[in-house]
Amino acid sequence: MKIMSVNAGSSSLKFQLLRMPEELEIASGIVERIGNNNAEFTLKFNGEKFVSKDLVILDHSVAVDLVINSLIEHKVIETLDEIQGVGHRVVQGGELFKDSVIIDDEVVLKIASLNDLAPLHNPAHIIGINAFRKILPNVVQVAVFDTTFHQTMPAENYLYAVPYEWYEKHGVRKYGAHGTSHQYVSQEAIKRLGNKENSKIIVCHIGNGASITAVLDGKSVDTSMGLTPLEGIPMGTRSGNIDPSIFQLMNKKEGYSLEKTLNELNKSSGYLGVSGVSHDSRDIIAAAEQGNKRAQLALDIQSKRIADYIASYYVLLGGLDALVFTAGIGENSKELRLNVCKRLEVLGIEIDEEKNNSRGDKEISKDTSKVKIWVIPTNEEVMIARDVIRLGNFKK
Ligand code: AMP
Repeated sequence: MKIMSVNAGSSSLKFQLLRMPEELEIASGIVERIGNNNAEFTLKFNGEKFVSKDLVILDHSVAVDLVINSLIEHKVIETLDEIQGVGHRVVQGGELFKDSVIIDDEVVLKIASLNDLAPLHNPAHIIGINAFRKILPNVVQVAVFDTTFHQTMPAENYLYAVPYEWYEKHGVRKYGAHGTSHQYVSQEAIKRLGNKENSKIIVCHIGNGASITAVLDGKSVDTSMGLTPLEGIPMGTRSGNIDPSIFQLMNKKEGYSLEKTLNELNKSSGYLGVSGVSHDSRDIIAAAEQGNKRAQLALDIQSKRIADYIASYYVLLGGLDALVFTAGIGENSKELRLNVCKRLEVLGIEIDEEKNNSRGDKEISKDTSKVKIWVIPTNEEVMIARDVIRLGNFKK
């Protein structure tokens, strides 16, 4: 059976077509710069990459049409009917969604009611959902939220110590993000632990956006991202945790508005802000190797903060079975993994430098390590497709 996994952004539409239940990618692609007359479409299929440039794609419906037509044109599918389900990634499900859900009009309204919590993402997801519902009206569509995996956090971990009415009236609390990835990776880790009961796992999803989650017996009990993805560890361009008094100081000294400072914390901080070199870890690592001190500092600040979270979650979980690295940097940067793990030796977390140097899905801990350290590639698309199958009630 063929299931489509979709991630719609404000000007982009990413998709992957999967063969389920085998969990194999059939084709994938992205439409970029939707809304412009220089849009670009990339389709990957059968080991080949087809790129179309300078397209006029005025909205997401046109983009979905293009995707579907090109799947037919390239004989990925013969007819529309072959797509039996569509899963949509949605960043913010607030407290309204404790699980993925089959999309109907009411669900779309509920997702829209959370726009204030994810102003850049949720409106874009709705545009994507509506476009797919229009073109595939009889196909089951499922919303899979980045936040639902974290809905199991206890109140003492998700509440901020601010006036309680802020939570009651406006939903001010920690929601977390990357839940689909944390869930997929922790499930893989649990399998590798032989389905051990009460397993204690920390997942480090370190990509351009980055978050860390403590997973107890398969459930998220704490995570580093907060009301928005800005909280937690420093990332490509995000600051991670700061003292909010910085807002007042920057207003006084530079006349920065709330929006301006928030924008700088989201877009000009992290690797980019500290190093002044780039938001991309490959550039930072290369610059640090050539002796750029600020690039090294950007890496060290991030690794130090990641280690802080791991140590704190170690205590929260009451020990640790496995520490897992995933996402672009977690999977590919031996430098990051070494920099983090070296700071954690006191907890019996011992990285094997030789194993760490090799690539791919692997164990990188020493035989003497009390904690397994794994690199497990994430697969949010598979997780989304699994939920389409689970909720879609398909006949076997
Ligand atoms: P993601 O957001 O998960 O796609 O991850 C993007 C990040 O992964 C970027 O900062 C990339 O520089 C980083 N990345 C990808 N490949 C490598 C690599 N081989 N070494 C270090 N970082 C990498």
